[in-house]
Amino acid sequence: MTQFQAPSQKKLKDISLYINGEFVESNSQETFENINPFTNETINHIAAGDASDIDEAVAAAKRAFHGEWGKMKLDERLDYVYKIGDLIEEHSEEIAVLESYDTGLPISQTRKMIARSAKNFRFYAEMVKSHLYGEAYQVDDEFINYSVRKPVGVAGLITPWNAPFMLETWKIAPALATGNTVVLKPAEWSPLSANRIAEVINEAGLPDGVFNVVHGYGETAGAALVRHPDVPLISFTGETTTGSEIMKNGADALKQFSMELGGKSPIIIFDDADFDRALDACTWGVFSFNGERCTANSRVYLHEDIADEFIKKLKERVDRIRVGDPMDPNTQVGPLVHRNHYDNVKGYLELAEQESCEVYSGHVPAEHSQGNFVAPTLLLNADQHMRVVQEEIFGPVIAVMTFKDEDEVIEKANDVRYGLAGYVWTKDMQRGHRVAQAIDAGMLWVNSQNVRDLRTPFGGSKHSGIGREGGFYAFEFYTETQIIHVAMKDHYIPQFGK
Ligand code: NAD
Repeated sequence: MTQFQAPSQKKLKDISLYINGEFVESNSQETFENINPFTNETINHIAAGDASDIDEAVAAAKRAFHGEWGKMKLDERLDYVYKIGDLIEEHSEEIAVLESYDTGLPISQTRKMIARSAKNFRFYAEMVKSHLYGEAYQVDDEFINYSVRKPVGVAGLITPWNAPFMLETWKIAPALATGNTVVLKPAEWSPLSANRIAEVINEAGLPDGVFNVVHGYGETAGAALVRHPDVPLISFTGETTTGSEIMKNGADALKQFSMELGGKSPIIIFDDADFDRALDACTWGVFSFNGERCTANSRVYLHEDIADEFIKKLKERVDRIRVGDPMDPNTQVGPLVHRNHYDNVKGYLELAEQESCEVYSGHVPAEHSQGNFVAPTLLLNADQHMRVVQEEIFGPVIAVMTFKDEDEVIEKANDVRYGLAGYVWTKDMQRGHRVAQAIDAGMLWVNSQNVRDLRTPFGGSKHSGIGREGGFYAFEFYTETQIIHVAMKDHYIPQFGK
């Protein structure tokens, strides 16, 4: 493992596209700037792909699907998938550094994300080997019907900047393991680790065209991928409004979509909860990943009997959270990914004041004024109707509210358009199950922080998504089920016109 290098000494070369096994400039020769969120200085320039580059990447992926990759024996294909996981592990420290440098996520957290990314490849290689099979349906002694699961073709993967490498591998691993080929369009604000995955896959020696990366803007490169007639699958993670636009753009071509969208998830803390553990989970759940976390518990509902004490402790935590250089292993909250996003989150803090919240913020050390820092913030006296309670802020900000009883808190928890995650803290396990099941969201945790087993379904309901990723659920999306009906006897066939 290489040791991490201080960002100030890093001179990174410009980044190109990866198409058909080669690193190439975009056809237009256009580039965009990639900026360090800690200093707001330019890191490097990124090739900006457009529709013509997408065309080339899709053509390469299609050739590979019908060629060497499509014809490859399963074990050989899975060996490549394992190899990608091994190489990620080998380069994990260096990838974690790139990720923190590009996104502002604290290095202690990106290290864990990269370790999980390597596991994604091994997990799906194992899943495919042991669990990707069809079924047989015997119909008396007349027919045998059997199903097979086949890869679909070229998968278009469109990813966000908030946990880029982890989320990219989450899609790439099942797509490749099930036998598809891939065109990835990563987020504009986090291109470094997407380029690194192309280098890793290149090093793993996959056949040309199996995996391609086209950097570029959503409205050009992303939209071209969505509209492309030779791309039957689009797996998208990002904002709800973008997801809706993508579905409209792909409707004419009747694409299959997997949609992992925004969230505004509640954490409900009853008066009998393990106070200290609930406090740890609440603080971590909203301030880790700089608050740029889709499953963040960005609304806390406190039972009125414990609210004062809990808020007092939350304030103490917010005061003490270590805000600083993302490369410092002691940093707990780093700068937000981009100045535009910083302005957006700051705008929500102003709105919170206009909406009569008491805005209580921690501290950003004065020497970090160059970075996109937003201090961990509590929105006290928040109320259900406020925009800061209804809308996803996607920063280190939590709206704090109280409740009297179970029915009231369930109604409030459900009173948003999102339904991604939810957290319930109580020692009364009957109530724990009851409340968890009453929350309209895809994923609930009871007396637990956001711990996830890769076998379980991941995804949201309402405006937080369509479909599920993870475990078997990925097979539903990345494979096509085909049923073959075979007669074993001469059965009756109507003889029209005889
Ligand atoms: P975004 O929607 O702005 O962008 C996501 C990706 O879509 C980027 O690659 C972007 O270039 C591309 N894109 C934008 N417009 C497009 C278009 N018209 N056609 C095709 N592609 C287009 O999201 P973001 O700001 O990068 O990420 C933050 C959002 O992602 C938050 O809302 C967060 O909750 C959500 N998110 C959800 C999950 C989940 O699993 N549910 C996980 C992580 C992040």
